[in-house]
Formats: sequence, structure tokens, C-alpha cells
Amino acid sequence: MARYIFITGGVVSSLGKGLASAALGALLQARGFSVRLRKLDPYLNVDPGTMSPFEHGEVFVTDDGAETDLDLGHYERFTGVPARMTDSVSSGRIYSNVLEKERRGDYLGKTIQVVPHVTNEIKDFLAIGEDEVDFMLCEIGGTVGDIEGLPFFEAIRQFSHDQPRGQCIFMHLTLLPYLAASGELKTKPTQHSVKELQSIGIAPDILVCRSEHPIPEKEREKIALFCNVRKEAVVAAYDLKSIYEAPLAYHREGLDQAVLDAFQISPAPRPDLSIWQDVADRIHNTDGAVSIAIVGKYTQLEDAYKSIKEALTHGGMANRVKVNVEWVDAEVFDLEDPAQHLEGFHAILVPGGFGERGTEGKIKAAQFARERKIPYMGICLGMQLAVIEAARNVAGIKTAGSEEFDHEADVRRFEPVIYHLKEWVQGNEKVKRKVTDDKGGTMRLGAYDAILKEGSRVAEIYGSTSIEERHRHRYEVDTKYREKLEECGLDFSGMSPDGRLPEIVEWADHPWFIGVQFHPELKSKPFAPHPLFSDFVRAAVETSRLV
Ligand code: GLN
Repeated sequence: MARYIFITGGVVSSLGKGLASAALGALLQARGFSVRLRKLDPYLNVDPGTMSPFEHGEVFVTDDGAETDLDLGHYERFTGVPARMTDSVSSGRIYSNVLEKERRGDYLGKTIQVVPHVTNEIKDFLAIGEDEVDFMLCEIGGTVGDIEGLPFFEAIRQFSHDQPRGQCIFMHLTLLPYLAASGELKTKPTQHSVKELQSIGIAPDILVCRSEHPIPEKEREKIALFCNVRKEAVVAAYDLKSIYEAPLAYHREGLDQAVLDAFQISPAPRPDLSIWQDVADRIHNTDGAVSIAIVGKYTQLEDAYKSIKEALTHGGMANRVKVNVEWVDAEVFDLEDPAQHLEGFHAILVPGGFGERGTEGKIKAAQFARERKIPYMGICLGMQLAVIEAARNVAGIKTAGSEEFDHEADVRRFEPVIYHLKEWVQGNEKVKRKVTDDKGGTMRLGAYDAILKEGSRVAEIYGSTSIEERHRHRYEVDTKYREKLEECGLDFSGMSPDGRLPEIVEWADHPWFIGVQFHPELKSKPFAPHPLFSDFVRAAVETSRLV
């Protein structure tokens, strides 16, 4: 059975629990252990699929088709372990399961309560796959003391109690604020936050303390004494230039050693940190920089495109260049000439998105990239809009559009080049959807195969003609227009295995113009950059040399 590490946070939110968890996962792997990371979120939404990217950041999609919290993206980027549907759960999902069971009569008429029914549901979730790995790292979202998080804290307390001694440990992240006036790091908020944990029956084994200043020995001793942890288990987390330095930084501070000590694993296997040393080397030793514009809708919140930003960074690492990303609001082009805003960028990326707002601007960005021969990557909606642009401005289908923007449109005035897909094949099964289905889970979600055209640019980039990538969309390019668009030079170079769904389009006579229906960014890692992003950044480097 796996050893469990529960990761909680206190004092303030956004301390980087997800990053600490992911980095610890990577360090345990470096010592030869297998790991799986899980996220338990206290909010009441059943899944993050329908939460606004403005509020919640990106929705991360797993191979098995779950729409999850963006922290699962961090986990994958650091450990390379593909996340699963069962690696993320919210209070909403837990309650919805409990209520469903109650309606079905599974509880035989008993009074349903938070303890034990909700906590049991959480414990069942924690136990899934317990025999598969050496370490299970479970991060609890939010901060200790939040009302909505309580059932999760109670459940992990019970869970550790149910297990043999030494099978579970608790790691708590806190903040040591710095008071400039007295020139001191303050430990009181950490003490209070640990008290809060203790009051619900959880005694942390390890404290990870975020601090902008070095933590003096004296303060470390004080924290250890007042919080009842060993001094070596008070681990400092300083600000880093890049998140990818976190595994090495946490190793230097002794986090993985403290964890192995807490489990009494001795002698500790020696770590092999070579992949992280290589990653750090690629971050610090770059030669030049490129500027890439992301033309999107959710540009106020960078987390909305988290994986894309990271994948571009990985692409930069593959080419040893720094990638400067600039966010351009697509709606600006409604009134202004895109050239004014896009001139000077070495590449343009139009990411995924939902709804009509900003789409005309993104179409203009695609046109600008095509005409000016600037590298363009269109992801999901960014691909669909590139097809609409091609249809309107090259193939002469002046009224080309998407059913997403105008369901009721009179087809005589509007050509749905992008249509709502209601039936498709997944594995050997047919999946059907109605427009009136629930908003959640009505999309083509998760990993699907695609076949690439021999000799196409994408086949060359992937080094293969058969790929698997993750999807999250309702609409598809209609193959009815394929012949006409291909005659104009827009190649349908990737298709679903049954040939019905276009997966990739590319302009054959353009230095780099590729649209993909899927989300390659979700599979990119710092130690294994996604080939499309590596090659996109390479093309951007080439553009930068021309100017
Ligand atoms: N809104 C589009 C669709 O549903 C694209 C989705 C996306 O970009 N992820 O097909």
C-alpha cells in the first residue's frame, strides 16, 4: 500500500502548495519511488469544467477526459505521470455522489451526515489506486480554517488514523512575513496556523515556510519548538526565478530528506537529479530571446492559459532561448488594425476559447499571420478561426462562420464551416450529444488518436504519422469544405482515424502555420518539451533572425 503525504496550507492562499507538491513528487521519483498526485478542492462546483477561466484559471484535461483543476497540470509537468479522472475531486462532486446514493436508497434510510457519510466518501476517493504507487501525495485546496474545507481535513485525519502507524504524514505550507521596520521574519502566523490544524486533530510532520528572506537558525528553532516539529523538518521555500528550479531548491533545503525521515525510510536512496540540473541549465544559459503574442480573450488572468505559457517556456528551453510572451486582447482588433499591435512579434498564437466575443479579432490575427508569413499556432478555437479565415478570405466563402456563434443563423446567409458535433466514435463506442444536454461534460474530452499525412510538416515535427492528443471542444471543422480549402492550399494534414474529424490544418506554402483541434500544451514538460512547441519556437527564432 502507498504511503500518503497530505499537503495543506495556512496563513494565506496562493503559497504555492501545488508547486511544492509537484516538486516533492519529482524529488521522490529522483530517488527511485513511484508517485501519484491528487488534488482535493473545497469548492462546491461539481467540476471546474464550467468555471470561468477569469476566476479559476485554466481547465486542465486528463487523458481519460476529466476537466480538472490546473494544479494537475503542474503535477504532470513535474512528474510526467499522466493524471487521471480520479486524481481530482471537489466538495461538489463528493456531495453530489453522497446525495445520489441517498436518493438511490444506498444508505437504507439512515440520517445522512457530514461525518461519517461525506468523510467516508472522501476516504473512499483517497484510497483509489492505493496499491499502485509508493507515494500518494494529496493536496487539500484552500487554507486551514476555511469552513468549506473542514470535511476534507476531518477525512484526512480519519484516514491517517485508520492506517497503520507511519503510513501517512502531514506537510503544511505557511508564510513567514517580513517586517521591514524591525527587520524581522515573523513566526506567529505560522504558529497560529499550526494551532488551527492541531485543533482539528492534525499534527504536521513537516512545515514548508515561504519567505522572501533567509530564515535565521534562531527562527527555525523557534518554529520547531512552538509548532512541535523537528528542526530539520522546517523547510524554507524562497522565491525562485523559475518554477522549474523548485525541485533542486527544495532538495537543497532538505525537503525530500525530511519526508523520508518522517517515514523512517533509511538508508535513503540517493537521488538522481540530472534531469532537473539539465532543466536549470537550459533556463539559465540561453542565447537570445523571441517575442510571441498570445491573442486571446482571457488576457487579464494569465492562469487562464497556464499550460500554453508553460509549453512555450519548454519550447524556449528546447531551443535555449528566452520566450517573452505578450498578451494581446483580441477585442482591440474590432476597432484597430491588427498590424499596429502584432508588428514586431516573432510568432503569434491563438489559443482555445469559448463563445463569440473576440473571435473576429482572432480571425484578423490569423489573417495577419498568414499574409505576413509570421509563424502561427492555432489551438482548438484558434484552429477553427484559422479555417474560417481561410474560407472567407482565400476560398471565397464570404459568410463562413461557426455554429457556436450563431445557432439560429439562416444557412442561406451563413455557412457553418465549423459545426456542432453531436455524434462521434470513442474507441469502439459511439458517443451522442444533444444541444440541450447539461453544460458540463458535453464535449469531446480527453485523449483521441489522429493520423497524420505522410510528408506533411506536422508528421515531420512529430516524427510519426500516428499521434494521441487531448481534446476539449464541442465544434468541429466540417469536412464538406475540405476539398475546396485544400485546393486553396490549406492542407488537412491530420485527421481522426475514421477520417471524419479534421485534427490538424496547415498552410503548405507558409513558413509555419499550423492549427490543431486538440491541446498539445497539456502534454508538454520541461524535460520533454512538446514537439509542436519546440518547433514553433524554433520558427520564431528564425523569424527573429530575418528582421
Ligand atoms: N469553443 C470551441 C469548441 O467548443 C473551441 C473549444 C476550445 O478552444 N477548447 O469547439
